[in-house]
Amino acid sequence: MMTEEANMTAEQTCFLIDGKRIDTGSLGVYDLIDPATEEKIASVPRGGRVEAEDAARLAAIGFREWSAVAPIERGRILRAAATRMRDEIEDAAWEITREQGKPLAQARAEWLGAADAFDWFAEEARRAYGRIIPSRAADMDWCVRKRPVGPVAAFTPWNFPAFTVAQKLAPALAAGCSVVLKPAEETPSAAWRICRSLLEVGLPPKALALIWGAPAEISAALVAAPQIAKITLTGSTRVGRLLASAAGERLKKTTMELGGHNPVIVARDADLGHAIQATAQWKFRNAGQVCISPTRFLVDRSLYPDFVHGVAQAAREIVVGKGTEPATQMGPMATAGQRDKVERLVEDAVQRGARIEAGGTRIGNCGYFFAPTVLADVTPQMQVMNEEPFGPLALVAPVDDLDEALEEANRLPYGLAAYAFTTCRETERRIAGSIEAGMLGINHFGLAVPETPFGGVHDSGMGSEGGIEGMDAYLTPFLISSRSPA
Ligand code: NAD
Repeated sequence: MMTEEANMTAEQTCFLIDGKRIDTGSLGVYDLIDPATEEKIASVPRGGRVEAEDAARLAAIGFREWSAVAPIERGRILRAAATRMRDEIEDAAWEITREQGKPLAQARAEWLGAADAFDWFAEEARRAYGRIIPSRAADMDWCVRKRPVGPVAAFTPWNFPAFTVAQKLAPALAAGCSVVLKPAEETPSAAWRICRSLLEVGLPPKALALIWGAPAEISAALVAAPQIAKITLTGSTRVGRLLASAAGERLKKTTMELGGHNPVIVARDADLGHAIQATAQWKFRNAGQVCISPTRFLVDRSLYPDFVHGVAQAAREIVVGKGTEPATQMGPMATAGQRDKVERLVEDAVQRGARIEAGGTRIGNCGYFFAPTVLADVTPQMQVMNEEPFGPLALVAPVDDLDEALEEANRLPYGLAAYAFTTCRETERRIAGSIEAGMLGINHFGLAVPETPFGGVHDSGMGSEGGIEGMDAYLTPFLISSRSPA
């Protein structure tokens, strides 16, 4: 049972540079805040350019060491780290909940998902196959090897502070890259725990550095550092544009996992009860702070009143509270800024004619709580139908047919996840043929597992994490064309 002891664990959270703990950054320290109570959890270091340049320099040395380690041994270290992570599940989950707000059960599931990513990519380490190409001459061989791209700078968000870290570290390290990791300032403890596990089970100290503090300063220094070969970000479209442009100027490789505004088509032939039940279960997960959260519900007019009624009723029944309390089904928003944004979007929508069918307001005056909310009769003129809300908002609009649903689904520049509820194979084929997204869920919502590719198109980013694609993102082809000596 984790209570007081785990309560204190964030106190250990610190930078890890060259395998050493650093408790005070070049820019001092700051407080981590519990979003459920607004109380201080711990004091942690704040770093900037100094740490970034130091970490980049060490990453070049770490790359030479780590890329020379046999893939089977790299896999062994990743698997050992996964085992250690599973042993620490209760402490880790407690920290995630305290820093980010999600209920403990969701924090545990996230932590196990992160450990799974290390196991899966541990296996992929020894499957980074190259190929032999038939050459044009009898005395010539063409062989393509896959080499690690080099030292990587990785940036992760606060909404999944363990899983987003694992989805970068596991494939990058499996491929033989060294990594400088900068997690979100609000939630560094999960990253610290993962990095510490890797270092304790044998990862060379220079192959992984963990720093955070002043994001713009750190990212500018890392992107500019000559040692860094690749930039990978999971975050907002705004920061994605900044980092991708800076990386582009220096011709550095990038993977950008960015925001979404994910449509859900509930077709005339959908199983309505199932659509309502799945929505109730997934929409309010992590208080809607999920990049692939189902958000714009485009419901066939014949099912619309019953869908709105069913989802609103389910939303009203959700138990909102501190994530550390066992009965809680939805915690607070992660930051005051997130809560304020959601509130502003709801106000704008209501002013423009949306109907609040559930929630719509803050809860209490301590902690960043916002009620599970269902807005009906939303229109494209409302801000909430254009900006990623990243909160517990289900936005529901009626549509006359599949053409109208597809037009609205594809209206925004985002293209991360899309969903459809249908019992008709032809409807599914039409949606799969024309939806502009990186991922499509038919009759269900869960999409993020280590073995399948995860990524978006357009403003939702470029490149994929997960699956063999996620590994390929850290490898570069190397051709050896060999002719027999005359
Ligand atoms: P964010 O873009 O504000 O920050 C992401 C990371 O980038 C953080 O570590 C941040 O500190 C860092 N960063 C680097 N340079 C920065 C700079 N110049 N200015 C500010 N930050 C900089 O995102 P967030 O608010 O932490 O996370 C929420 C966003 O992440 C949402 O848009 C969500 O959709 C997206 N997200 C996407 C995925 C995906 O896989 N596509 C997954 C989770 C979250």
